[in-house]
Amino acid sequence: MQQNSLQNLISIIAKLPGLGHRSARRIVLHLLQHKELMHKLSESIISTAKEMKFCEICSNLDSVSPCAICGSNTRDKSLICVVEGVADLWALERSKLYNGLYHVLGGTLSAINGTTPESLTIDKLKRRLISNISEVIIATNATLEGESTGHYIASLVEKAGIKATRLAHGIPMGAELDHMDDGTLTIALKLRQLF
Ligand SMILES: [Zn+2]
Repeated sequence: MQQNSLQNLISIIAKLPGLGHRSARRIVLHLLQHKELMHKLSESIISTAKEMKFCEICSNLDSVSPCAICGSNTRDKSLICVVEGVADLWALERSKLYNGLYHVLGGTLSAINGTTPESLTIDKLKRRLISNISEVIIATNATLEGESTGHYIASLVEKAGIKATRLAHGIPMGAELDHMDDGTLTIALKLRQLF
């Protein structure tokens, strides 16, 4: 019985992103040697699982729905920034440069994985394109699937008569040209700007 619950915990932890069975065994062993931490972790997981929900408007994660961003009186409600996941929203929030609303897609369109517009939150986004939105910023990742999803959304936004923009692509800060891949250099050169 003991062995079963131990193995069960290891196999659950091994399913977490970035971890395998070896790291899971190390984590579980560490927790068993630090029981106080183990209890705190289990209580925290239970309370966070109960408390957090997806926002009914933008699919962000928060303890309230609509989320604090959708419910805020100080954010610019004429702007929607479309991101693939909540981690992307958090990254943009950390920059403190954006003060509009978000829309979390929950992934990208992918023929291989069978992700269709219906399995993402694209219908919800369409319903948001009717009110006082002046611009939709498409901030999907610069991957093949992120790009094609971005194009799909841009066409929906434009059909609704709203301006669709995207994040700039190019050379990351602190990078050297010699280390850039051809695709990044090509885009950086195409999208060059005045000094
Ligand atoms: Zn929201």
